[in-house]
Amino acid sequence: MKKMLSKKEIKIVLEKLEGKFPDAKAELDFTNSFELLIATILSAQCTDVQVNKTTSVLFEELKTPQDYIKLSEEELGKRIRSCGFYKTKSKNILETCRLLIENYGGEVPNTMEDLVTLPGVGRKTANVVLSNAFNTPAIAVDTHVFRVSNRIGLANSTNVLDTEKDLMDNIEREMWSKAHHLLIFHGRRICKARKPLCTICPITDYCFYYKKEVKQ
Ligand code: SF4
Repeated sequence: MKKMLSKKEIKIVLEKLEGKFPDAKAELDFTNSFELLIATILSAQCTDVQVNKTTSVLFEELKTPQDYIKLSEEELGKRIRSCGFYKTKSKNILETCRLLIENYGGEVPNTMEDLVTLPGVGRKTANVVLSNAFNTPAIAVDTHVFRVSNRIGLANSTNVLDTEKDLMDNIEREMWSKAHHLLIFHGRRICKARKPLCTICPITDYCFYYKKEVKQ
């Protein structure tokens, strides 16, 4: 049996995190599902702040998949260079735009099954798009959600897919998207990777990591 907090305790943990981060929400800037898809592809290995800087210029110029495919990989690469891994991202974005035009009438599809057929779109990116652009309950497990969930005891797993499953099992469906944002905010601001700031954390009473590694 997996060692995790009870559903009741998990609910309290999320309430406490909501108290700490009442404004937890997506930090990528976008105005429609297509912009969110592009921004999320760009956000791999890059900060949301940097992605927002890049897209504030990019989205002024390029608004549809048709706009993008007029560019070569090199031309798009120059525009997204500051997000890192720009060659791969440029290639993936152009291929994604081609597939959106060919298979989905130029629109972003709204199912996991379809989204993951797009290059550069894995399960995490698809969940971000489903949750934030289509209001479909989803828990995208990024590096912060993975680390924080397993530290606290919301999940007990060594991989992102099982962590997502644990979270979906343990959290009410209507809270999935909110929980995703809360865990990212908590991971970025308090439960940091190298040095979690346990002294200012509101959930020490519940956290497995704290009880095992910090409290002596
Ligand atoms: S007590 Fe420490 S390890 Fe646990 S969630 Fe809070 S910051 Fe993270």
